[in-house]
Amino acid sequence: MRSRILLFLFACITTSYLKAGDSIPDVSAEELSAHVSFLASDKLKGRAAGTQENIIAAGYIAAQFALYHLQPLPSGNYYDTIPQFSGDLYPSCNVIGVLPGKSRPEEHLLISAHFDHVPEKNGQVYNGANDNASGVAAMLALLRCFAEQGGAERTIVFCAFNMEERGLVGSTHFADVSYAEKRVAVINLEMLGIPQKRKAQFFMTGTRFSDLAALLRKGLAGTGVSLAKEKGDLFMRSDNYPFYLQGTPAHTLMAATDFSRCYHRPCDDIGNLDLKNMALIVNAIFKAFRPLAAGTETPVLTKKN
Ligand SMILES: [Zn+2]
Repeated sequence: MRSRILLFLFACITTSYLKAGDSIPDVSAEELSAHVSFLASDKLKGRAAGTQENIIAAGYIAAQFALYHLQPLPSGNYYDTIPQFSGDLYPSCNVIGVLPGKSRPEEHLLISAHFDHVPEKNGQVYNGANDNASGVAAMLALLRCFAEQGGAERTIVFCAFNMEERGLVGSTHFADVSYAEKRVAVINLEMLGIPQKRKAQFFMTGTRFSDLAALLRKGLAGTGVSLAKEKGDLFMRSDNYPFYLQGTPAHTLMAATDFSRCYHRPCDDIGNLDLKNMALIVNAIFKAFRPLAAGTETPVLTKKN
């Protein structure tokens, strides 16, 4: 009898634990708005690499990493310094935080987004709300979701890359210093705030290079969000690419392409973003990537470089 009671208690505890672990933390438009409002505010002047405002943006991201107790780099902080460009007032850093895997810590999943944008031109500030405060906001929301679930089975490395706009400089640097042999996949997030044609969809760049699209499509079932046909040829244009060159399945998820009306123009402001739609997409991405985070799915390259 006693053992039955114990068994019953154990079952209750296990069930409630599983329930807590299985529930999907909901990403809201408000949460995304808070991140984008800060990063794409006029005060941050477009967060161009080599400026003081770029460092403030890096500090904001690092504070979020600290809030969720991400592990720092071996240097003891979240800043991965990139060799300074001549003419820059300040050195630039990627911001990197690690959520250690529970049972497969040696297998790294990278979730990334670049946080730099472009400098002022003719006295006009380019806020880069969609490119790419939106991607950073999505990454931070995913970080919260995974952290609140107590982490994943695989290690997740959250990477806010710098100097993307100067030619993928930050990601190229980090691809060299992070552990290529541990990387399972790289998921890069770009321009998720403006729906291209239809709402509730996004697309993946470089579909033909790995089987990740198939895994994604499976994971999106029941979310109300679908994977659209790839648009443009953007696979080599964002921070996923340096990782692909080293043999890791690495792709960018986007809603809008560079054909968007405000792409690299001063009108790329938060007012033009559809944050409700973006929240729907981020929640769906979280659900779709849970099998990857859990280690039950592993993407493989289909086209080797
Ligand atoms: Zn971008």
